[in-house]
Amino acid sequence: ARFDELGLSESMLATLDSIGYETPSPVQAGVIPVALSGRDVLGQARTGTGKTASFAIPILETMEDRGKGAPPQAIVLVPTRELAVQVTGEFQRLCGERKVRCVAVYGGKPIKAQISKLERGADVVIGTPGRVLDHIGRRTIDLKSLRVVVLDEADRMLDIGFRPDIEKILRQCPDRRQTLLLSATVAPPVKRLAERYMHEPTMLDF
Ligand code: AMP
Repeated sequence: ARFDELGLSESMLATLDSIGYETPSPVQAGVIPVALSGRDVLGQARTGTGKTASFAIPILETMEDRGKGAPPQAIVLVPTRELAVQVTGEFQRLCGERKVRCVAVYGGKPIKAQISKLERGADVVIGTPGRVLDHIGRRTIDLKSLRVVVLDEADRMLDIGFRPDIEKILRQCPDRRQTLLLSATVAPPVKRLAERYMHEPTMLDF
């Protein structure tokens, strides 16, 4: 497959070229067209497969221009702060010249600095479930304009014990949203989460 066969904009193709991504990985070739169509995706994919760009690219391609200070359009939940930092870096690379604000929020760091970043405006929030929930409670993250929710490494998040936090967050998200779930394994706990919180997901296996 080629990136120019996936329905991407000229500016995204230029960005991919400039960061040296020549061909889509199998996960990207599979997930990007389905995610662009607006459907939910349940993808079985391990780390190192290019899974991050598989959800970051369609999110960035469908960003709506809502003006400065508008609430986030996408939230990415991840199991660890390391992954939050990595995923945020990948989003920033894929933004290219565009001014999309991507903010990482995770535990173990003072919440104050994250609050002031969020107050300056966040289009995409990438964070660990506990800290995201903390921000929702403080009203420093507003979910009402959310278009896309990503559950990245869903199996790891459940293993760590984040299920109650994930469910609290998902219950507060708008019903009309897209949910993308990536997981190295799709065992019963992941399936249950998908059955409860996803809408007719397309299952992709890599
Ligand atoms: P991930 O599985 O998302 O953690 O990605 C693994 C690594 O592959 C990261 O360093 C990405 O920057 C890189 N990567 C992702 N997609 C591509 C691609 N299409 N071509 C080259 N490198 C890529």
